[in-house]
Amino acid sequence: MNAPVFGTFGAAFPVTPFDADPAAAFIAAHHFDRPTLVVSRAKVAAQFDELQAGLGRARIHYAVKANPAPEIIRTLVNKKSGFDCASRGEIDLCLAQGAKPDQISFGNTIKRASDVAYAHGAGITLFAADSAAELDKIARHAPGARVYIRLIVENSLADWPLSRKFGCAGSALPALLDHAQTLGLVAYGLSFHVGSQTRKAEYWNPVLDQVAALWHAARAAGHDLQLLNIGGGFPAYYGQNIDAPRRYAAEVIRAIDARFGDVAHLMAEPGRGLVAQAGHIAAEVMLVSRKSEADLHRWVYLDIGRFSGLAETEGEAIRYQLVTSRDGGETGPCVLAGPSCDSADILYEKRPVQLPLDLQDGDKVMIRCCGAYTSSYSSVGFNGFPPLDVIVL
Ligand SMILES: *Cc1c(COP(=O)(O)O)cnc(C)c1O
Repeated sequence: MNAPVFGTFGAAFPVTPFDADPAAAFIAAHHFDRPTLVVSRAKVAAQFDELQAGLGRARIHYAVKANPAPEIIRTLVNKKSGFDCASRGEIDLCLAQGAKPDQISFGNTIKRASDVAYAHGAGITLFAADSAAELDKIARHAPGARVYIRLIVENSLADWPLSRKFGCAGSALPALLDHAQTLGLVAYGLSFHVGSQTRKAEYWNPVLDQVAALWHAARAAGHDLQLLNIGGGFPAYYGQNIDAPRRYAAEVIRAIDARFGDVAHLMAEPGRGLVAQAGHIAAEVMLVSRKSEADLHRWVYLDIGRFSGLAETEGEAIRYQLVTSRDGGETGPCVLAGPSCDSADILYEKRPVQLPLDLQDGDKVMIRCCGAYTSSYSSVGFNGFPPLDVIVL
């Protein structure tokens, strides 16, 4: 923790200049002896304000899994945010940071029965489900609760689609709403997720069309739906242009108003879009090598990889931007990999990354916009490499 290590960094960082980017400034000014995520609370708070301004009357329930740092939860509690929790652990975290039970939704459609009972006992009254068996479980352990049914959406245009793991088919919805009512639950509304990192607001339209048709059909069948939970999907900047958060959110809300009309309660669950840009990872080059003299690509091994925070490089889906202490000179293509002894620990190979030709071991690297889905994905210490450290400014 002494001399600045990224002397000429500013020029390589045009989108968020250092003076306005506390995490980048902190990384530039310090040494780290292990991979470290540095996140700025002020940036999270500012991003919350921008998203909320665009979302208008829609209530934000932060998706806690994106970054569960207690300081971030506390910051959002102070902003009067709600919280989308997936487990007892996340519920306890939010309660400990001052969230009230009515600010918390239990949004996982796969809940442990004892966790449902625990949430009910703690005063939480809003639960997600996508199956009859989960509704049975909720009715048993949280009698009278409000439930929203999660729908599968087709044709996600997201960079990190959420596949078919969550949600029920539209054809199953009427029976599930009836079932909830029969069980004495309040069939309160619907939810969906467009897929994470949905880069353009217009990509929501086909999904909104599907959900709106089901919403109106359910209401016509006599279900007094109150809540539309639009999930997450709000994008972060990874080098490809995105709209400013306020504008993006406002456009989504306009598209919803046009299709749904008067909805009593709107709720959004941003994760990535709220915290990703607030943090960067300080990392280090451990080795630069070639497999043979004829090898076209250098292999660059970092001290962080797939198992210590960069899980979203799976399928090369999320392409993080790298800034190095040698930026400014000539670059060449590199395969980028992590330090562990697992062959899956390769970050980018199909599409190599351009890095300075004079890069060498010991050089500092900053991985940009890593505030979401890094610390929460880091393993406990595969191969004895320490898990991602977190510093919250
Ligand atoms: C993970 C998750 C989110 C957050 O998604 P982002 O794309 O990061 O905004 C929202 N809702 C639910 C139910 C989730 O599981």
